[in-house]
Amino acid sequence: MTDILVTNGRVVTQDADRTVLEDGAVAVEGDRITAVGPTEELTAAHDPDRTIDADGGAVIPGLVNPHTHVSDILLRGSFAEDRGLLDWLYNVKRPGTLALEPDEQAIAATLYCVEAIQSGVTTFVENDTEVVWDDWADIEAKLGAYERSGIRNVYGAGMVDRGADPAFKELVTDIQARDAGVDHPPLEHFVVDTETAIDEVESLIETYHDPDGRQSVWPAPVVVETTTNRCFRAAYELAERYDVMTTAHVAEAEAQEQRSLSSIEYLRNVGYLGPRALLGHCVQIDEGDVRILAATDTAVAHNFMANMRLATGFAPVAAMLDAGVTVGLGTDNSILSDTINPLNDVRAMAGGHKGYHRDPGVVPTQTAFDMLTIDAAAAIGRRDSLGSIEPGKQADIAIVDLDHPHLTPCPDPVFALVHNAQGFEVETVLCAGAVVMADREILSFDESVDDILADAERTAADIVERVGYD
Ligand SMILES: [Zn+2]
Repeated sequence: MTDILVTNGRVVTQDADRTVLEDGAVAVEGDRITAVGPTEELTAAHDPDRTIDADGGAVIPGLVNPHTHVSDILLRGSFAEDRGLLDWLYNVKRPGTLALEPDEQAIAATLYCVEAIQSGVTTFVENDTEVVWDDWADIEAKLGAYERSGIRNVYGAGMVDRGADPAFKELVTDIQARDAGVDHPPLEHFVVDTETAIDEVESLIETYHDPDGRQSVWPAPVVVETTTNRCFRAAYELAERYDVMTTAHVAEAEAQEQRSLSSIEYLRNVGYLGPRALLGHCVQIDEGDVRILAATDTAVAHNFMANMRLATGFAPVAAMLDAGVTVGLGTDNSILSDTINPLNDVRAMAGGHKGYHRDPGVVPTQTAFDMLTIDAAAAIGRRDSLGSIEPGKQADIAIVDLDHPHLTPCPDPVFALVHNAQGFEVETVLCAGAVVMADREILSFDESVDDILADAERTAADIVERVGYD
């Protein structure tokens, strides 16, 4: 029984040999891929309920975004212009995201998913770094939207169990003085004691983590400065107990560099590094840190565009790749990248590292594409089920229309996807064997895309007014 047969595609399998099948086909039964081969062969062998003609387009694994944030998508605009990390965080992101009501969180999540689907993303890891644990209304509003979206989500449940020290409080007060008209939430707004953080995250995993479905929950200690060593250890233990991963923001900017122990050394010492840890950023780390990441089999989510926009610097990705560290490309905050479209970021990422190192050989094309697919899947602990088009894997597939002037001629679809594609050429998306977008029409939400955009526009204007951004 074949449910769907995708035919006539240039199938970029991302298998171990990185096979590209010209005039290839993919058979899907239920939520799985059952066969991959020449169109002629699979058409003769299968009698599908539905045939999707890729018409010469690239058939690629659904993209995996290993590090992103959702709620702040409604804060798009120029508010983040010319701000460093802490200025942006305390004057723009936190006031806005903490002002959102649950129904507004759902609107943000819906907008996010529409953009993600249109970009060919079928899995994303949300880092929810501003969780107020009084109730789960905000979280549940977002999870409801993800459920309706039809794509996969990992909800990284933020853990903050350490308040700021007096010196840091003073620094933040000075930073906030720049935007005195903004309604700043209290600094300790989402700090809870260690037990509460652990218990809440564990309950959330028990309630919403579905190992066979599209929703996962991970413990996500936010940063070294606001999470205790006990909480980091507990997060890793929870990940082991529930067979999930854990993720944190590490060495994004100068704050971490003030420690006598590097953040990577510190996390190794407290028992947080290992195959279940995915570290976001790792910009300001050195050779020794890279060696520790490789030795502990710790994965990294590289957030190139956000690092450029916030001017935090170039992460040593070339060194990480040389050392064998698994690296996926994330889009980070939607108001920093400033899209959540991996195909839009990947060319800048590959080119940026070449320019930075004055070496055209670093981050080769195939490696760059791996960072959106198979390596991103490995980075989130899902190498066995996601990130490539192979029998037995989840049927997460995107079809990219190559029939555009900027993609012509196209002797190598992988090169075209990395260096020519803009990210809007994705036409059809399947996730877990279900068609969530066909010929650019999103099928998963009841509302039309026009209505979703209008809702988001209205809500965003209201938030800007309420928070008091200039
Ligand atoms: Zn982030």
